Order: sequence, then structure tokens, then C-alpha cells
Amino acid sequence: MANIAFIGLGNMGGPMAANLVKAGHSVKGFDLSAEILKSVAASGVTPATSTAEAVADAETVVTMLPKGAHVLSVWGDLVSMVKAGTLLIDCSTIDVESARKAHQLAEGAGCLSLDAPVSGGTGGAAAATLTFMAGGAENAFAKGRPLLEAMGKKIVHCGGNGAGQAAKICNNMILGISMIGVCEAFALGEKLGLSHQALFDVASTSSGQCWSINTYCPVPGPVPTSPANNGYKPGFAAALMLKDLKLSQEAALAAGAATPLGAEAAQLFDLFDKQGHGGRDFSAIIEMLRG
Ligand code: NAD
Repeated sequence: MANIAFIGLGNMGGPMAANLVKAGHSVKGFDLSAEILKSVAASGVTPATSTAEAVADAETVVTMLPKGAHVLSVWGDLVSMVKAGTLLIDCSTIDVESARKAHQLAEGAGCLSLDAPVSGGTGGAAAATLTFMAGGAENAFAKGRPLLEAMGKKIVHCGGNGAGQAAKICNNMILGISMIGVCEAFALGEKLGLSHQALFDVASTSSGQCWSINTYCPVPGPVPTSPANNGYKPGFAAALMLKDLKLSQEAALAAGAATPLGAEAAQLFDLFDKQGHGGRDFSAIIEMLRG
């Protein structure tokens, strides 16, 4: 079993670190929030007072931080604190460019590295059922895979440095666009006098089927577990969807890719966020689309 340092113990990182403990690893955790540090001790994570203390004996370091700037700052510090050969895994959702820079920092210090963002939300983090999309060298993936398996159920090696982040933002661009499409269809159906259940029964088994309707239906009733049945409590907050759509648009601009629907989806979620709904589930955008 390995000595692991876990930096960033928030909504996702806390339960992920707890699952590494459950799998028998020794985990030292650090977070800027003293309150969070106190609370993770109950799950068997040993609280550290700094990144330096957390990584002192670590064979692997996992980071789960808000944005690219946080990851580059933390990795920039910790590469001089760990032994060569240490595996660094970043599970945050960040821009592809920062992910590639983080790999360069690791390589410069003789460390192995993976970008390994996740899908599955806080529920998946708690239940260890996350999907991991990993980017990095084969030997880094081979070393990291058993640890990712302790926190998730589907682990995909997407390619070289940054490929995990690329897969994540492409997937979430599909999700943002498809949710708006499903919401528009329900809003149109309502105006045409169609019941939610009738549209669901047809579209969820026909060519309109997708995760946004079949699993996460944005109106109450047809899928009882979807946030629409719970006042649009997240789930997946609209602000996080906006963050991921913005990352997709930055990447599209840098790569010269045309993503007109991705751009439109980003604008609509930006408007929804500016109207004060960033903390609600992203499927609540149906209320704005009803006009
Ligand atoms: P969060 O804000 O709950 O947690 C981030 C934690 O990082 C905070 O506790 C913060 O104190 C800590 N932190 C920031 N800078 C630090 C530093 N320098 N050193 C130590 N700790 C530091 O966020 P979250 O919901 O856990 O999300 C983390 C990442 O996972 C984000 O990139 C997010 O986009 C991604 N993600 C979130 C979800 C979700 O449903 N919440 C789903 C998939 C991916």
C-alpha cells in the first residue's frame, strides 16, 4: 500500500481521499481551509499543516483544486519537495494548456505525471464510481491506474499529456449543448400542449435519446432522481457547466476548431449565471429558455 499526499480536500477531493484510505493507503491531506482539514480526519486522512508536510514521504501526490492557476502554483512548489520518480496526478478540471505546463514541471523534476479529470460529481466521488480520463505517459498511467481504481469504476487512458483534460471538456461541451436541446424541446412541447411524460416516453426511446433526457430529465416526473424533482438543487451546478464550456471555447480558439453550438451554449449559461442562477443545477436553464 502506498503513501499518498492529497492536496485540495473540497467537495470532490475530501471523499476521493477517503476512498484511498478505505483501499488501505496511508493518506496525508492538505487544504487551505482549516475547517475542511479538521473534518477529513474522521475519514482516516491525516491532516497536514502544509503542502510540504503532506508530500514529505509521498510516493504519489494527488491534487484536486479549482483552476489551472491553482494547480500550476501547487505543482510549481511541490516538484522541489518530492523525490524524483514520484507520481503526480491532477484530477481537477483545468485548461489543456495549464495541464501540459504542469506535466512539464513534473518532467523537469524527474517525476511521473498524469492529468486525470473526473466525471460523476460528488455522488460518484463518495461512492468511488467516478470516470477518470487520463492523459500522460504509459508508465505514469500504469503506476497510477490502481489508485484511480480505488476512487472510480471506469478508467480511460486518453493519450499523452493533456489528453484527459481534452476528453473532459469535449464531453462536457456535448453535455451543455444536449441539455439546452432537451430543455428547448420540453419548452416547445409545453407550448404545443404535449405532456412531459409523452415527450419523455417518445424521445427517451427514439433518436432524441441522450443522457440529458434519459438520466437527467430537466422537468419533474419522468426521471424521479433528476434534480428537477428536487427544486434544481445540484447535482452539477450551472456555474461549473459554464466553467467547462468556457474551457472548451478557449481550447477551440487555441486549436482553430469551429464549435458554434459550444459557443452558443457558453453564452446561454453565462446569461443564466449572470441572472444569479450559478448555484442551481444546470438543468434549471429550462426556466430561462421558457422565456
Ligand atoms: P471545491 O472548491 O469544493 O474544492 C477545492 C479545494 O481546493 C478547496 O477546499 C480549497 O480550499 C482547496 N485549495 C485551493 N487552493 C489550494 C492550495 N493552494 N492548497 C491547498 N488547497 C487548496 O471544488 P470541488 O467541487 O471539489 O472541485 C474541484 C475540481 O473538480 C474543480 O476543478 C472542478 O471543476 C472539478 N469537478 C467538480 C465536480 C463537482 O461536481 N463538484 C465534478 C467534476 C469535476
